[in-house]
Formats: sequence, structure tokens, C-alpha cells
Amino acid sequence: MSLIANIIRPEVLALSAYHVPDSSGFVKLDAMENPYTLSSDLQRALAERLAQVALNRYPVPSYTGLKNAIRQQFGIPENYDVVLGNGSDELISMVSVACAKPGAKVLAPVPGFVMYAMSAHLAGMDFVGVPLCADLTLDKAAMLAAIAEHRPAITYLAYPNNPTGTLFEVADIEAILRAVGDTGIVIVDEAYQPFAQTSFMPRLAEFDNLLVMRTVSKLGLAGIRLGYMSGSKALLDELEKVRPPYNINVLTEAAAEFMLQHVDILDDQAAQLREQRSALAAAMRQLPGVIVFPSAANFLLIRVPQAEQVFANLLKQKILVKNVGKMHALLENCLRITVSTPQENALFLDALSASL
Ligand SMILES: *Cc1c(COP(=O)(O)O)cnc(C)c1O
Repeated sequence: MSLIANIIRPEVLALSAYHVPDSSGFVKLDAMENPYTLSSDLQRALAERLAQVALNRYPVPSYTGLKNAIRQQFGIPENYDVVLGNGSDELISMVSVACAKPGAKVLAPVPGFVMYAMSAHLAGMDFVGVPLCADLTLDKAAMLAAIAEHRPAITYLAYPNNPTGTLFEVADIEAILRAVGDTGIVIVDEAYQPFAQTSFMPRLAEFDNLLVMRTVSKLGLAGIRLGYMSGSKALLDELEKVRPPYNINVLTEAAAEFMLQHVDILDDQAAQLREQRSALAAAMRQLPGVIVFPSAANFLLIRVPQAEQVFANLLKQKILVKNVGKMHALLENCLRITVSTPQENALFLDALSASL
């Protein structure tokens, strides 16, 4: 074992690998996936397209066609470009690598998306977590105080936040962008934009230090691994230097270009999920002892008495949700449930009632 201790960095030794539970045979409500699959017509058309991809060639690293489709379909402002990532996870690590000067810090509200802290640690940066208020809204005063104290190189704001579903106030985000000023970048992470229907993308020109990051994962394409981020040309030029040149593989590129021609289908699914979110929240509020937090994402955070027991009871009924109770003190007795089809939501509701 001395080999490991001799060569592996202490930050890595201290981490545990991202754990994904085996979900076969379960109703899978733990990972914010879109429950809908492609129609058989679309499957056939996609298969034909993918069959023509030249697997023997490297991708063309400018990705011009895909980037143009993203800019048109996802409302990137005129004259703004995007940088592509193998999922937004890769964009997060690219930003860390680009900004990891000695002593540089990363700041984000907690509880928040775990990859922000993980990626900071991997790049050798300190992570500063600023607790949300007890009702899981942003603690603006604490954020501004922490920014003044730590002068973070990178500040992350998930809009809406995971795992809470909270949509932070626009005015608070503006205040943070101004407080950070030219001493750091602020990444507004809009992974759940199809469910929040609000965005900082149209406001890029107002803030030189703003980057808006998105992914196609929660929209229904989690399997292809594609994230994109926009911001000033000056910032994107630097990030392009860090990006592995062929990071988007040719199958992902072709599948994404194909699906972007049918984005209306994904938009319809997002609309159905937004409706289901309201219905599921209302139904859970009827159950004794269940507190449902407001959510602008495709999941709902709930607090129940004895969440560990409820989680175990749900597992016995072959329903997998995410037990987030141990993530942070503010999430005690909380479970996070991905909103799914009316059928799966009904299965979950029955199982939850029986589990309380
Ligand atoms: C799911 C999620 C992502 C990760 O997206 P990928 O593109 O699948 O890597 C990023 N940010 C937040 C807040 C998320 O919840």
C-alpha cells in the first residue's frame, strides 16, 4: 500500500468515489432523469443517422454545426459562443483547472451540487460552503459576507438549486455578481432550466464575470453526456485552452444534432413534467407529516418524520428515491424525489403513503 500513499495526492485519498446505487428492477426516482423514451419512429431515424457517422475519424474539434444548433435552439444571445463539455461535470472541472492558482477558492451555497466541492478539491482549491437559510432560501447576507472575506475565484449558483429545488431571487444573484466584481467568476448553473423557465442567459452582456452553464441531461439526454456554457469571448477563449480537444465524441455530436431538430418533443415532455410536479406536490401535501419544499426543478424535496425508515420502506416496495438526510444538517429527514410519469408518480405516492 505504500505505493498508493507515495504517489496519490492527499486530496484524492480523502475523497470517496461518487456512488451510484444499482437500480435494476426499481422505479427510478433518484437521479432527475426524464422518464420518457424516444418513439420507435425517432429511434429508427436516429439509428440511421448514427450508422452514417465515421467512427474511424476523430471529431472535428470546432464542433461548429453542433454549437450553431445549440445557439439557435437554446437561446444563446447574438454574438455569444459556447464551450462544450462531456456533461456539465466536465465544464466544472475545466473551470477549476483554469482557475486553480495557489490559494484560489471556490464558493457555493450548501447544501448544493456535490461536484462543485469535489472538483475544487481535485484541483487543489479550498471550498467555502455558505449554508442556506432554514427554509432553504439563499442567505444573501451570509453570501455577501463570505465573498468579502474569501474573495472566491469561482462562485457557483445553481438556478434552481439541487438538491433543494429552490429558485434563488434574481436580485440576490445580481447582488452577488456585483459583489464578486472582477475578482472572480460567477457560474449560474442552469441544469434545470427546462423546468424553471427562467434564465440568466439573456443577461450575459450585463456582467463580464458571468458564465451560464447548462446541460441536456435533465431535458432527456442524460446518456449522451453533453453540457454547454456561455459567457464573454475573453473567458471562453481561456476555457477552450483547457478543454480536451475531442471531448465530445462523434456519436454524442450526431445524436445531439439530431435531437436538437426535434427539441419540441423534449420541450413537451418538460411541460408534462412541470404539470406533474404540481400534481405530485399537491398530493404529497395531503399526506400527514409530509412537508414539501417549493421546487422549480424536475424533483421535489420533502421532509418526513423518520426519513431513514421511510426510505427503507420505499426500497422494499422497489422505489428508489434519494436519501439526502446525511448530506447536510439543513436536510435532516429529507428525501429528494424525481418527478416522473403519472403512472410512476402514482406508484410512488401509494408506496409513500404506506411507508409513513
Ligand atoms: C445534474 C446536474 C448537473 C450535471 O449535469 P451533467 O451535464 O449530467 O454532468 C449540473 N449541475 C446541477 C445542479 C445538476 O443537478
